[in-house]
Amino acid sequence: MNKLSDIGLIGLAVMGENLVLNMESKGYSVSVYNRSTEKVDNFVNARGKGKNIQGTYSLEELVNSLERPRKVMMMIKAGGAVDATIEALLPLLDAGDIIIDGGNTHYPDTDRRVKVVESKGVHYIGAGVSGGEEGALLGPSIMPGGSKAAWPAVKPIFQSIAAKVEDGSPCCDWVGEDGAGHFVKMVHNGIEYGDMQLITEAYHIMKDLLELSADEMHEVFKEWNEQELDSYLIEITRDIMAFKDEDGEPLVEIILDKAGQKGTGKWTGITALDLGVPLTLIGEAVFSRCLSSIKDERVEASKILSGPKPQFEGDKKEFVKAIKDALFASKIVSYAQGYALMQAAAKENGWNLNYGGIALMWRGGCIIRSVFLSKIKEAFDNQSSLSNLLLDPYFKAAIDKAQNGWRKVVATAVMNGIPTPAFATALCYFDGYRSERLPANLLQAQRDYFGAHTYERTDKPRGEFFHTNWTGRG
Ligand code: NAP
Repeated sequence: MNKLSDIGLIGLAVMGENLVLNMESKGYSVSVYNRSTEKVDNFVNARGKGKNIQGTYSLEELVNSLERPRKVMMMIKAGGAVDATIEALLPLLDAGDIIIDGGNTHYPDTDRRVKVVESKGVHYIGAGVSGGEEGALLGPSIMPGGSKAAWPAVKPIFQSIAAKVEDGSPCCDWVGEDGAGHFVKMVHNGIEYGDMQLITEAYHIMKDLLELSADEMHEVFKEWNEQELDSYLIEITRDIMAFKDEDGEPLVEIILDKAGQKGTGKWTGITALDLGVPLTLIGEAVFSRCLSSIKDERVEASKILSGPKPQFEGDKKEFVKAIKDALFASKIVSYAQGYALMQAAAKENGWNLNYGGIALMWRGGCIIRSVFLSKIKEAFDNQSSLSNLLLDPYFKAAIDKAQNGWRKVVATAVMNGIPTPAFATALCYFDGYRSERLPANLLQAQRDYFGAHTYERTDKPRGEFFHTNWTGRG
């Protein structure tokens, strides 16, 4: 009989195969299973050959090949497949065993599954895994949540396969109860939408207003990647700008301007609306993809609707600096909004989220990895109860410094007819958040006028409500 394995993995597609190889390379023995069992043979006899990997051909065989407490990780298509696999696994497992879902599951599904699985005495972990194929093999960011009692058994494996930051800290730590791990992964993906949108707006202005070439923009992104914007997404944008098609022209310029999406940005936006959190930048990022996707309609509209022709007079170098300021300040707002969403969800669900730890988990291995995240970690390390990232001294000073350039870029883009929804909404949020008084007094008057919704008065104690007969009619 084969030696018992440390962990079992179900689902030998892109992510599963690479995670198995990652675990094995860190000294763990892994049993593998896939619904289409020919994939087990293909894997074990090729990429898994000569390694401490055991192929199994049924869930029962997989479960029986594992050390106790058994740890069974699913890397399969999110949705019904996960429910079906849990249902098939539960009768085979014993109390104290652990089921892990490493897929892109929507967090309410994990909330539900944690309860069902725990009611059978088995532990359940929903872990967000980010970093794609390469991350899975070399070190992903892993965001686990669910049955905390299961964490000590899973922690050494997950922390050893996760990406590491400069000081060796793993980009993986316990996130929180229920679906908190998948929730944090969802917010990560939403923030990714925001970061990408911000970069595309910078590109749009540099291209259409400043008329910079792709090679010139390559130099700009290269420089930005050596400063506070140092991040994976700026780095790949730098490389994309330099990439030439077969005819020697920049490939990026012949790619159809129609963005796709898989839905995690939308989930983040919907959750923010449900919780009443102004997550405006990610919302704009999702809607910008929607607007881009109606390409044919836009082509028709472009023949009918007119606006200013972009024209720039001034110092281009200075303006590129201002664009960097706009990008940096908007990025701070986006993360402030994302963190506000996590704080609201933690309150709503009774989760005890470790905000600095989350920044560390995103610091390496994942798509939004950046130097900037160390500053967020520091902010929450300095003040764990920080209510908004904008109030942290580092970020306050950074916005103070960038503010002038940020305003200039938004105003110039507006006057030149270049859409910058994310830069602009970030600025509006910032101006709204720092306003002692907003025009919601008028809004309340309107609500009271047409619907007798009542209002509070600034000259009376809070909680006392008034209604006015605005028309004098009975
Ligand atoms: P995938 O294409 O999402 O899923 C394919 C795997 O799911 C195959 O092993 C397939 O088995 C299995 N599967 C599908 N339906 C099943 C069912 N009803 N019962 C049992 N198994 C079923 O694979 P992936 O791209 O490797 O992703 C795995 C998970 O990680 C997904 O949740 C994905 O969203 C998430 N994820 C992916 C990435 C990425 O970059 N690809 C990054 C992070 C997270 P068969 O071979 O039998 O069809």
